[in-house]
Amino acid sequence: MNGTRRLCLVLGDQLSFDLPSLQGLDSERDTVLLAEVMEEARHVPHHPQKIVLVFSAMRHFAEALRQRGIRVQYVTLDDPDNTGSLPGELQRWQAILQPEELHLTECGDWRLEHSLRCCGLPVHWHVDTRFLCTRAEFSAWAKGKKQLRMEFFYREMRRKSGLLINGDGSPVGGAWNFDADNRKALPKHQRAPLPARFTVDATTREVIALVAEHFTDHYGSLEAFDYPVTHADAQVLWDYFLDFGLAAFGDYQDAMASDEPFLFHARISAALNIGLLDLRQVCSDVEAAYWSGRIPLNAAEGFIRQLIGWREYVRGIYWLQMPAYASRDFFGNSRPLPAFYWTGDTRMNCMRQVIGQTLEHAYAHHIQRLMVTGNFALLAGIVPSQVCDWYLSIYMDAFDWVELPNTLGMVMHADGGYLGSKPYCASGQYIKRMSDYCSGCAYNVSESTTDNACPFNALYWHFLMRHRELLQRNQRLAMVYKNLARMPEDKQQALWQRGEALLTMLDAGKAL
Ligand code: SF4
Repeated sequence: MNGTRRLCLVLGDQLSFDLPSLQGLDSERDTVLLAEVMEEARHVPHHPQKIVLVFSAMRHFAEALRQRGIRVQYVTLDDPDNTGSLPGELQRWQAILQPEELHLTECGDWRLEHSLRCCGLPVHWHVDTRFLCTRAEFSAWAKGKKQLRMEFFYREMRRKSGLLINGDGSPVGGAWNFDADNRKALPKHQRAPLPARFTVDATTREVIALVAEHFTDHYGSLEAFDYPVTHADAQVLWDYFLDFGLAAFGDYQDAMASDEPFLFHARISAALNIGLLDLRQVCSDVEAAYWSGRIPLNAAEGFIRQLIGWREYVRGIYWLQMPAYASRDFFGNSRPLPAFYWTGDTRMNCMRQVIGQTLEHAYAHHIQRLMVTGNFALLAGIVPSQVCDWYLSIYMDAFDWVELPNTLGMVMHADGGYLGSKPYCASGQYIKRMSDYCSGCAYNVSESTTDNACPFNALYWHFLMRHRELLQRNQRLAMVYKNLARMPEDKQQALWQRGEALLTMLDAGKAL
């Protein structure tokens, strides 16, 4: 095939018609390339549903581009000529089409961008304008600051976007952050809305069969696949949340409940991260819902903060600090990830619930990830890179730019406090307060040192004792260390011994 002016490689998390590298296409002379490659599907053992989501959404996007008159080359995973990597596909199609120019939008993964930048082809790179803050803008904001804090960055983004800002530049409601209103446990009889459902079409069925054939060694079920794979269905999911979930999202965003995997969470993060929804539109819909009186301010502000605060902040940190960031290990952890993270085979009900729903749906909400599976990994001293790989593998919405800082920095505090001001460590009391998990658990959350005591309790104090030198000067932990100092010596020893016993069991490969 001759006469190609521009060849645009579009990645599986770039399925947006507004993608910068897709602007100004000439339907007669330009070609868009999409390729399903083994290297991306296998560099960590991605949950099979996540592979289905990305491949099916890519196939639907390719078809939508064709319907818009754009020439598309689509390489399926089982194409015998598939080279298995994106640099390989770019080189192959460059040789076949001999385009005058190669175009790409910035990647979401340092590893992939590095390999594409080093593949020997002259690529025209586009800034990813799907985000509110560019890499360069974040770098300028961070310059000269000894410590970065999300809250101050978030205020900048509120001012930049004008979201929930009064005419005089002040925040609507008189405060920037209403997080204190967003920590309610779920009342006993409060029910979450039924989740929006999506039918699996012929394209997705084909992809499910392909994934079932090639990824039998990856953990996670394929059966419950129920995610939008087109822009239209992503919009349905979003509209459903605006109507039925958002009003209660603020109050109960930190709550957890048995057999309620979604509660009042939108489940749009995967669609947003692969380009099926637009950040600015989503935020503007939330603001409009607030101004129309459909939702309270704590729900609107809390949701917008997740998107233009945390989401943009972690992306900024990722590109500022990579690749060195990935190997940070502040506590010097050496314990491997317990096998039950891949199976849910544990007597700890909170862990069983969260890992179980993760294997079934490739989904858990942020507090489940932070305060249950993450908290346990932090307290047990698991190697951060293994925890990061688990999160990257197992969650539908996990792409390196968002997963790595959230896991390594926020969950594991492995960056020593660069991203967050304190480790998010907690005993079983936090999980008891925010969920009903403890009432169905084999362990007793009110006990700390007996054989039947909740493992989180002794591990929490063991963590604080073993890292006393590193943490006791942290102002946000001052009260905790005062409480520890006031504790009778024999109680401290009993907690230490119980913690040691639990860690020895983990080291012996026993599930707790
Ligand atoms: Fe989790 Fe402990 Fe509660 Fe069991 S008792 S559910 S292990 S917090």
